[in-house]
Amino acid sequence: MTVEPWASQRLDGKLAVITGAGSGIGREVALFFAAAGAQVVASDIDGNAARETAALVGAAGHVVPADVSDRLSIERLADAAEAIAPIALWVNVAGVGAAASLCDVTPDLYDRVTRINMDGVFWGCAAAARRMIPRKGGAIINISSNAADQPIPTLSVYAMTKAAVNMLTRSLAAELGPHGIRVNGVAPGFTLTGMTAPDRLTDEERAALIARNAARSPLGAVGEPCDIAQAVLYLASDAGRFVTGQTLRVNGGVAMP
Ligand code: NAP
Repeated sequence: MTVEPWASQRLDGKLAVITGAGSGIGREVALFFAAAGAQVVASDIDGNAARETAALVGAAGHVVPADVSDRLSIERLADAAEAIAPIALWVNVAGVGAAASLCDVTPDLYDRVTRINMDGVFWGCAAAARRMIPRKGGAIINISSNAADQPIPTLSVYAMTKAAVNMLTRSLAAELGPHGIRVNGVAPGFTLTGMTAPDRLTDEERAALIARNAARSPLGAVGEPCDIAQAVLYLASDAGRFVTGQTLRVNGGVAMP
């Protein structure tokens, strides 16, 4: 056996760029990666939130604010990260939810969700790959969603972007594998973050939300950011060295496509 259990989930000496790292799943991925030995570039549209994440990470934390709906902002993020160290890992986490019935979807809402959730992932992959290809190695992880597997009324635009991310992951795995770059995804089910359970909810509303979503899972549970971060760490590390083109469903069994 050449891959040591546990040791294989270390990321020592690697620099990771994480978008959407200012809160929720992105922040947790940053903390997991740093605990595994990586240097972490915490990026978010909200610079203060990214700074808080970097402060939690400690000495291995760096901050580069970026707006993933802007391709040039992503390029500046990649350049700033490379000035610290070669980018070995890139995790596209930034995303926004949007619930609206088809006939209520405005052009503004459509543009915002597709530019952040889909275009942002595409150009993030491109920025990472352009820098990883000459070094013949790296790993990219795209955060998808259960919504790509399970049609939910009012989530058409969101689901469409996440389904596109799943196909992008597979396409790029085929294209970048010969360059030593693995591309995978993680599709969370309902996970407790500011996106799903904002602070403004009362205790009763929060409990009802959790109960409603837990009831959809054979495990009778909802996810926490650590559940998603653990899967991302596996895919980023040598433990996942033979895995590419996959989107790992971390959803409590709510969807089993
Ligand atoms: P979150 O706590 O809202 O985190 C998303 C982060 O992305 C926020 O810090 C947000 O900043 C940032 N962001 C928004 N627009 C951005 C932009 N244009 N450029 C850069 N950063 C931007 O939500 P989360 O639940 O952790 O979601 C993370 C990812 O998981 C998303 O892709 C989401 O679709 C996916 N996901 C979540 C769940 C779930 O149940 N939580 C389930 C399936 C998939 P602001 O707060 O300032 O907007």
